[in-house]
Amino acid sequence: MTEIPALAGYTPEKRMLIDGELVGASNGAEFDNVNPATEEVLGQVADGTKEDMRRAIAAARRAFDETDWSTNHTFRKHCLEQLQEAIESEVDQFRAELVDEVGTPVAVTYSAQLDWPLADAFRWPAKMIEEYPWERRLPDNDLAGLTSHRAVRKEALGVIGAIVPWNFPFEVTVNKLGPILATGNTVIIKPAPDTPWNATRLGRLIAERTDIPAGVVNVVTSSDHLVGEELTLDPRVDLISFTGSTATGKRIMEKGAATLKKVFLELGGKSAMIVCDDADLAAVLPSAAAACMHAGQGCALQTRVLLPRSRYDEGVAILTAVMQNIPYGDPKDMSNIQGPQVSALQRDRVQGHIDRAVEQGARLVVGGGRPANQPKGWFIEPTLFVDVDNSMAIAQEEVFGPVLAVIPYDDDEDAIRIANDSQYGLSGGVFSGSLERGMAIADRIRTGSISVNGGIWYGADAPYGGYKTSGIGRQNGIEGFEQYTETKLVGWLS
Ligand code: NAD
Repeated sequence: MTEIPALAGYTPEKRMLIDGELVGASNGAEFDNVNPATEEVLGQVADGTKEDMRRAIAAARRAFDETDWSTNHTFRKHCLEQLQEAIESEVDQFRAELVDEVGTPVAVTYSAQLDWPLADAFRWPAKMIEEYPWERRLPDNDLAGLTSHRAVRKEALGVIGAIVPWNFPFEVTVNKLGPILATGNTVIIKPAPDTPWNATRLGRLIAERTDIPAGVVNVVTSSDHLVGEELTLDPRVDLISFTGSTATGKRIMEKGAATLKKVFLELGGKSAMIVCDDADLAAVLPSAAAACMHAGQGCALQTRVLLPRSRYDEGVAILTAVMQNIPYGDPKDMSNIQGPQVSALQRDRVQGHIDRAVEQGARLVVGGGRPANQPKGWFIEPTLFVDVDNSMAIAQEEVFGPVLAVIPYDDDEDAIRIANDSQYGLSGGVFSGSLERGMAIADRIRTGSISVNGGIWYGADAPYGGYKTSGIGRQNGIEGFEQYTETKLVGWLS
C-alpha cells in the first residue's frame, strides 16, 4: 500500500457556530461521526435542535439588518482574504479529517475534494468585490414631462440558508460561502449529518481567526433533517442554496413556497460519455474509470457510456478490463480512487439499484456486490453493466455508487438522442478523433457542463449547474455570484 506521507493529526470541533460563539446544542445532545471505511466512531458533534436553528437564523438576520456587513466592500474583502489564509493554514487537518469522515480516497483530496476548490474559494470572490460592476447607468428617460437619471444597483440579497451534502462537503460549502459573503449576505450553513466536522472546523476558524462579525456565518449541525428544514420554512431566510438529491430539492421548493423563498438548487445527474466511432478507444475508455472515483458519489460523474455499435465489442472488452482493475479499498491508500459509500444506508441503496438492473435484464460483467476482502466498511465492488437499454432504471436513475452502464448506439444522432433522454442535465463528455465533430455533438447535449476530449471546466470562475431536474441556478462564476444579489432600480431628478 502506498501510504501518503503523514496524514496529519487533528483536533475535531464538536461545537456549532451561532452568533459568533462556538456552542453545543441547547439541550446538550451530541451525535456520532462515523468512519465509513472502518465503521468506527470517530467522535461526536453537537446535535443541534430547531431552537438552535432559529437562534442562528435570528443572528444572521440581525447581522444583515443591523451591521454594515452588506455594504462595506473593503471590510468584506479583508475578511475573505483572512478566511482563505486561515483555511490554508489547516489544509492538512482538513485533508485528514475529510478522509476519515467522508471516506474519500486521499488522492481525491488533492483534486475536487479539497485542493481544487480551496485554490480560489475566497480569493476569486474577494477579487470580484473589486471588479464586479455593482452599478450601471441607464440612459436618462423623458416621462411625465421630467428628465430622470437612472441606475441599476446590485445589492446583497439577505439571509441565506446553505444546505450541504456529504459527498463533497468542503467543496460545496466553500463554493457557497465565497460568493455568499462576497456579495454581502449572511448565512446559516447546515452540513449533512454524515460529514459535520469539516464545517465545524470552518466555523472555528471563522470565530478564532477572522474578523467576520458575529452572526454573519453560522454553522448548525444536526442528525435530524427537519432541523435543516426550518431554513426552508422561516420567513427570515431569503434564499436557500441547496446541493443534494433531486427529491430533497423538490421538497425544499415546496416548503419554501409559503414564504416565496428564492432557491439555488444543484441536484442529481446521470451524465453520458459519448464515445464516437473515430475515437481511440484504448486511449479514451480508461477515463471511464472516473465513474468509480470516490465510490461514484459525485453528481457530475459520467455514469452512462455510449458506445457505437460498430465498435461495441472492442469497447466492452476494454471497459471490462478497466473496471476489473479499479484501485479501491482503504481511502488512506494513495493509490486508491474508490473508497466506501458514505453510510450503510447509501451502500444498501446502491445495492438496490444493482439488483434491480439485474432483474431488468442488464448484463452484469464486473462486480455487483460487496467485496469479500473488505469485511468492514460500506464498500461496493466496481460494477459494470453492458447491453443496457436507456429506458432501464440503471440508465435513468442516479445511483451514486461505483456503477457504470454501457449503452450501444447506431450513429451520432442516436447518441445525442440517448444522452438527452434523461430527466437530468448536469454534465457529460464527448470523445472524438475530430474536435469539430466532438464540439458539434457537445452543442446539442442539454446539460449545464460538458467536456470534449477530456477537457476540465472546473474553477471558481466557472458557473456550474444543471438543466432540467438537475437544478436551478449556478455555483461559482459571475452567474453564481449574481445569484446571491438583488437588483435595485434607482431613478432621480437633479
Ligand atoms: P439529501 O439530498 O437528502 O441530503 C442533502 C442535504 O439535505 C443534507 O444536509 C440533509 O440533511 C439535507 N436535507 C435532507 N432533507 C431535508 C429537508 N427536508 N429540508 C432541508 N434539508 C434537508 O441526500 P441523501 O439522502 O443524503 O442522499 C440521497 C441521494 O441524493 C443519493 O443517493 C444521491 O443520489 C443524491 N445526492 C446527490 C448529491 C449531489 O451532489 N447532487 C449529493 C448528495 C446526495
